Amino acid sequence: MTSLSLSNVKKHFGRVEVIRGVDLSVDDGEFVVFVGPSGCGKSTLLRMISGLEDISAGVLRIGDRIVNEVPPARRGVAMVFQSYALYPHLNVRDNMGFGLKVRKVPVDERARRVGEAARTLKLESLLDRLPRELSGGQRQRVAIGRAIVGNPEVFLFDEPLSNLDAELRVHMRSEIASLHKRLGSTMIYVTHDQIEAMTLADKIVVLRDGLVEQVGTPRELYERPDNLFVAQFIGSPK
Ligand code: ADP
Ligand code: MG
Repeated sequence: MTSLSLSNVKKHFGRVEVIRGVDLSVDDGEFVVFVGPSGCGKSTLLRMISGLEDISAGVLRIGDRIVNEVPPARRGVAMVFQSYALYPHLNVRDNMGFGLKVRKVPVDERARRVGEAARTLKLESLLDRLPRELSGGQRQRVAIGRAIVGNPEVFLFDEPLSNLDAELRVHMRSEIASLHKRLGSTMIYVTHDQIEAMTLADKIVVLRDGLVEQVGTPRELYERPDNLFVAQFIGSPK
């Protein structure tokens, strides 16, 4: 089953076209990684999928719905940002439950879902803390927890580990892999870290200047890059 598809999707800011016609199909449960140089449009694509940014042209489907006009909260997607974007004045419990509260999910159901996400992410002992009382890795776990509680069909991650030190990044990478295995959800993940891309992805999408340059499994891209640009990005010897 197709989880999500983009057909000839474009985005312009004023007269500048930054996404220039992207076609992409993502299967249910697939882990797709976007890579490409800074400014090539990775974040813009994620923001259009999440609904934080309008689509200038083309069609975006999630499940069997066209969602071009559907507001973010009703798309069944959740986004995790590099900057965590936690509410500084709310403790961990309320940060994770905030979206559910906005959607008027009853208190006991909210507590149940937050408790479950906290267990999954080993945050149970930190529920009463404020973001500033947490380490970077713990904050990123809370941001992931906030995405999980909404039970989205699709997770969108925008360079979620870039602010963490190398050791923690390796640890969180395997946590994200096991989360994907456990939840079975579709995940779209932006990174500029080749190792992250190669280890996490079922499928890698190489973007360049607002267009898809090549799509393939990590192995396909490594062994048969279409051109030097892809080879250099993936780190293969071509
Ligand atoms: P990436 O995430 O791959 O680094 P972005 O999606 O952030 O790239 O940006 C793609 C291009 O779109 C860049 O040239 C950037 O300057 C431009 N851009 C992004 N957001 C806006 C905006 N709100 N207004 C104007 N230009 C933007
Ligand atoms: Mg970006």
